[in-house]
Amino acid sequence: AGLAGIARSAPLLRAAASIGLPRFCTTTTPSYGRTSVYVKEALGILDFDPQVEKAILNPDREVKVNLVVPMDNGEVNMYDAYRVQHNNALGPFKGGIIFHPAVNLENMRSLASLNTWKFALLNVHFGGAKGGVAVDPRGLSEREVEKLTRKYVQALQEVIGPRTDIPAPDINTDERHMSWIFDQYSRLRGFTPAAVTGKPVWLHGIVGRECAGGRGAAYAIREFLTRTLRRKVAGCSFLVQGFGKLGSWTAQVLQQEMGAKIVGVSCSETAVYNENGLDVAALREHVVGGGLLKDFPGGTGVPNDDSFLDLPADVLVPCAVDGTIHAGNASRCLHFKAVAEAANSALTPEADSLLRAAGVPVLPDLLVNGGAVVVSFFEWVQNNQNLQWEEDAVRRELDRYITDAYDALLREQQQYGSGISLRTAGYLVALKRLQRAEQVRGHS
Ligand code: GLU
Repeated sequence: AGLAGIARSAPLLRAAASIGLPRFCTTTTPSYGRTSVYVKEALGILDFDPQVEKAILNPDREVKVNLVVPMDNGEVNMYDAYRVQHNNALGPFKGGIIFHPAVNLENMRSLASLNTWKFALLNVHFGGAKGGVAVDPRGLSEREVEKLTRKYVQALQEVIGPRTDIPAPDINTDERHMSWIFDQYSRLRGFTPAAVTGKPVWLHGIVGRECAGGRGAAYAIREFLTRTLRRKVAGCSFLVQGFGKLGSWTAQVLQQEMGAKIVGVSCSETAVYNENGLDVAALREHVVGGGLLKDFPGGTGVPNDDSFLDLPADVLVPCAVDGTIHAGNASRCLHFKAVAEAANSALTPEADSLLRAAGVPVLPDLLVNGGAVVVSFFEWVQNNQNLQWEEDAVRRELDRYITDAYDALLREQQQYGSGISLRTAGYLVALKRLQRAEQVRGHS
């Protein structure tokens, strides 16, 4: 769909652009999309307090607003914008902001709840949220995107804030958007760097943010390989699906700091393979310089379709978008010794159960995708402390959080026997922590 389908409104009168308080949607039937299957499974194992179950299965707050944005050509467009705040028993809400035409209440709900479970497992003291605008930003100028971002903050200022709900980058949003959010929130409410994370390093951001997602994924994979599979990262080969920020940094940290052999990398356009290992740093330079993966001189171009999954390697690391491993191609993944789900919901529940039945261990997104939010947590702490952390401290602490989360996963799995997957173990840890917080805080 082009811009025409996205800027769905006819030009509106400027007078109609009233900036009132957010309008609150009533919660209808909550649906957590993909995560609901896993949550239900974990709840089936636990003897869960029914009161708490009710509380945690319903999002705390869902906000939908219409953003009325003046375009460069003088017209005014209207965009649906959302913020879903799932559960804040463990701390203020937190989650990314997505600019994408597919954004709707349903997927915001699902992603907000995923954050709740993820934060609980990682022990970062936040509750899950997610927000977004139904827009294709590629059709907008930088100025228009800035206005849209500022309108988002303006419309939602009552429900976000450093102690309430802290936004962060997500699909199609980055440090530019976070700078505008920081600035807009500060204009409205006074200087507040802790109102948003993912800011540029020189504007109250944190060092090491750029590679945090990939670094966290690499640490999680290291823990799994060494402690569960009893193998060294250096002796393993990897296929990395997706070579954006997450995929490229996962591959680079695995290779440069742990000696892994990255044999194949794919992206939405092409893929490259070298059984002796690709030089990831050189590959990144090649891509940054505008080159296609398939033209990289240090490897052989291969198709980026499902046949990529047939390539020999020990571990598959999906780092692209959600649902890349599904019922239709999961059977091609049975030769891997493990699948590390670095991208959120990279596996559909059908693919997950297929791999589980075949005995291929899956390291779940709750853990593997945790690096960015852990470092977001550090950024928020840093902003509250009014100081700047050093990169060594960021790396060390990130490692500690990921390793501790893996400890918790293993302990949980051991408690229930190897019959439960690492994913189920992750949900069990999260649900128990949430239940404890809900019970102790009480509902009266
Ligand atoms: N994109 C992340 C999410 O919502 C951002 C989390 C964060 O850094 O706070 O999952």
